[in-house]
Amino acid sequence: MTASASRPPAPDAPAMEPVPLAVPEIRGNEWAYVRECLDTGWVSSAGAYVDRFEAAVAAAAGTRFAVATTSGTAALHTAMLVAGVERDDEVLVPALTFIAPANAVRYVGAWPLFVDAEPWFGQMDVGRAAEFLRGCAARDGVVRNPRTGRRIRALLPVHILGHPVDLDPLLEEARRLGLPVIEDATESLGASYRGRPVGHLGDLACFSFNGNKLVTTGGGGMLVTDDEAVARRARYLSTQAKDDAIEYVHGAVGYNYRLTNLQAAMGVAQLEQLAGFLAAKRRIAARYTEAVESIAGLQAMAEAPWATSAWWMYTIRVSEAAYGMDSRELMRCLAQRQIQTRPLWQPLNRSPAHADAPPAECPIAEEWNRTALSLPCSVGLAPEAQDRVIEALRSLGGGGRG
Ligand SMILES: *Cc1c(COP(=O)(O)O)cnc(C)c1O
Repeated sequence: MTASASRPPAPDAPAMEPVPLAVPEIRGNEWAYVRECLDTGWVSSAGAYVDRFEAAVAAAAGTRFAVATTSGTAALHTAMLVAGVERDDEVLVPALTFIAPANAVRYVGAWPLFVDAEPWFGQMDVGRAAEFLRGCAARDGVVRNPRTGRRIRALLPVHILGHPVDLDPLLEEARRLGLPVIEDATESLGASYRGRPVGHLGDLACFSFNGNKLVTTGGGGMLVTDDEAVARRARYLSTQAKDDAIEYVHGAVGYNYRLTNLQAAMGVAQLEQLAGFLAAKRRIAARYTEAVESIAGLQAMAEAPWATSAWWMYTIRVSEAAYGMDSRELMRCLAQRQIQTRPLWQPLNRSPAHADAPPAECPIAEEWNRTALSLPCSVGLAPEAQDRVIEALRSLGGGGRG
């Protein structure tokens, strides 16, 4: 053992509690409802909680129908299937997002067409997408990409970080061309756009209840829509496409994507607390914004005038020149203080996983990837813990280090 490894910590080193990026908040009826499943034996994919969870999510999104799935990714895959996306079709996807929506496009053999972000909120640049669509030839209901000659089959905007995409210009173009709009609303349950809830803006939408999302079931997802035929088809495909459950007759190659009653029980309890969760997120965001605005070189997360953000992941931008270090160095310095932060995703046009997709220039997404840093923002983040994050951001900046 080396001398340095055996050296005891300095006697005056403060004991620091780690501040995690985002952890679930489990303080409601989760135990009671899950216990009820265990006590009654209703643990699997049939049971009253699945129905209740679907009804509650449909109510939150303002849609007529909801179909629970094992994950948000499974909901996205199912959405591709029910929207009729097929091999060698193309689907518009933002470059700046978690990889799942682009993967879902590939699951059905189609290709993602990556659209750059806009600079203000980091969302899909709908102006660019609409302009591209105006340049596509539409004949006999078929929209073709002039560059690849392939058929464009759907639009898959993603409301990232809890903030809605400025969707109206895209919806207008989609209606004109007869293209379905599938919202990836997995990060933005509870947000709204011009007074309309996210998840009820396009033709269908997907939510996620993964452990890092605002409402969690451990793992889970949901497809929501107003279209009864789409909902029926989604339920059919996500439950092994059974035509006759007794005789095991299946009318298609389906999937086992059904959420369990155990998970749904947790989801029902979590959704009961949605309003409180959203209020906590908004409070945490407001406090960060007030502090960050007074630190040179840091840019606060913004909310558009037409948006009500769910503030899922509070994300600042770091200007290396003005702040004195870049986002990655700041992440390492905060980690030394037991404060966990994360950069945003590698832009998907740069992803090795999607190297075969049509090439795209996405400078704004790349700029966000270089400069963005998400701060600890659990629903249960204590004011003292948030103070520690803010104090660290202040002291690490240009002034504090001089
Ligand atoms: C979390 C997430 C998903 C996938 O959800 P899972 O439930 O983890 O499969 C899809 N898209 C985006 C943008 C996400 O952030």
